Amino acid sequence: MFIDVHCHLDSRFYSAGEVGEVVERAKKENVKLIVANGIGISENKEVIELAKKYKEIRGALGVHPTEILRDIDEEIEFIRANAGKIIAIGEVGLDFLESGADREKQKKVFQKFIELAIELNKPLIVHSRKAEKECVEMLEESGAKKIVMHCFSGGFKLIDRISANGWSFSVPASVKYNEHFQNLVRRVELSQLLCETDSPFLHPLREGKNEPAFVVESYRKIAEIKGKSLKEVEREIEGNFRKLF
Ligand SMILES: [Zn+2]
Repeated sequence: MFIDVHCHLDSRFYSAGEVGEVVERAKKENVKLIVANGIGISENKEVIELAKKYKEIRGALGVHPTEILRDIDEEIEFIRANAGKIIAIGEVGLDFLESGADREKQKKVFQKFIELAIELNKPLIVHSRKAEKECVEMLEESGAKKIVMHCFSGGFKLIDRISANGWSFSVPASVKYNEHFQNLVRRVELSQLLCETDSPFLHPLREGKNEPAFVVESYRKIAEIKGKSLKEVEREIEGNFRKLF
């Protein structure tokens, strides 16, 4: 089976009916596990509902670094209370793209999520845009081991450091045309790769809304780059997923 370890299926992007169709199209492509990631209070609640409704959907709860919450401790309490219904903490991390971003506050929030993931023994799905080095440093200092770097855009030095730490990368379907991700796949052992779509973003053909069915494009490109059959890559990545989650 194919697995999409990172996407967003909440009502900002998909109506309730659309999610059902998205799951059906994914199943037709043999995409049988879809990890829906929360980014804030209402999306986290929706993720729990989606995971309850569809057996293909698993939940990850978190607060995206660009979401400003009034009370982060309250949300962490909510996640702790629902820990039995989820398989990961995400999407969390740092985002320094906007020059006005409150970096210190983001770091404090991320630190809390790192500690929560360690406490709950769940993998962290990490967003690190323009803050790749800072994310790696914080994660190393924390001693967290179960880590997925999602859409990682850092350079080879950091990629090698992450590989040496034994963490994983999730490769988006946009690897079909994105040279950075192609180079990442070349550089990293297959045993440390997972696949994602980041739906509804990063469409593999740059055409409108992405969806989990298209995660197969990540697998295809990885198979091509690694010189392996699609079946081998599918099997190996399922093994990577089961080991980590
Ligand atoms: Zn995302």
